[in-house]
Amino acid sequence: MLPIQRKISSYNHYKGNNIRYIVLHYVGAKGTAKNNVDYFYNGDRQASAHYFVDDISIWQSVEDYNGSWAVGNTRTEVNNKNSINIEMCCPNPQLLISEKTESNTVELVKYLMDKYNIPIRNVRTHYEVSGKTKVCPNWNMNNWSRWNSFKEKLSSNSSNTNNNVNINKEERCKMKYAICYTNDVDERAAKYLRDYLGEQAQIFDARIKMNWKGFAENLIAVGGDSTPMGFSGYTTHRIKGDTRYTTAQKVLDICLGKGKLDNYKVK
Ligand SMILES: [Zn+2]
Repeated sequence: MLPIQRKISSYNHYKGNNIRYIVLHYVGAKGTAKNNVDYFYNGDRQASAHYFVDDISIWQSVEDYNGSWAVGNTRTEVNNKNSINIEMCCPNPQLLISEKTESNTVELVKYLMDKYNIPIRNVRTHYEVSGKTKVCPNWNMNNWSRWNSFKEKLSSNSSNTNNNVNINKEERCKMKYAICYTNDVDERAAKYLRDYLGEQAQIFDARIKMNWKGFAENLIAVGGDSTPMGFSGYTTHRIKGDTRYTTAQKVLDICLGKGKLDNYKVK
């Protein structure tokens, strides 16, 4: 699966989400996942969704544990307060969902189904949950056969987790710092490092299997145990103390100018 990049908006969400459903949408306007996450980050749009997916990325805009303004109400069986909503993006003017975007979305849905124990019957289209009033995603032109094949892919066990992300290195390397962690204490340290490194840095939970190859210019592991982590082959920096707290100390030293990131380069 592609890593989940985050730009959580402070606008347009409900506090709390009783997660039981996943609802799929398409963005009925031209734009990448990054374009969309920026748009919803930058103002009150009277709408929102948890995830935006395109050919090369997954961006999260609303926390899973909060409801989004995507389904249209809080009353029907499937609603804003019991669902995770995923928007497939259409960077092309014809507003077609590409095969690559679809397969990236399949991986994300599989991951969320597993994480929240959601059965396939609770994965729906906006079209289905709207009482067939919203043609969303715009898959009706082929009589929803695409939706049926999407569900077949969800039920197949073939995991292409470590796939095939056919993106050239240039595109993948746009991110300067990817900071990875594998437990909650290290996550806090990773967040300090992200704050310190600024906008060009993002944090990732390395317990989620991803294709790290060429993912970022600098792939920084914060802590982790001694067993090889999934991304270890591509790690450029490793910050690790004897305990989780000494790991955090080393990170704080960097933030305070007492240590240098480059001292932690993997040789
Ligand atoms: Zn929709």
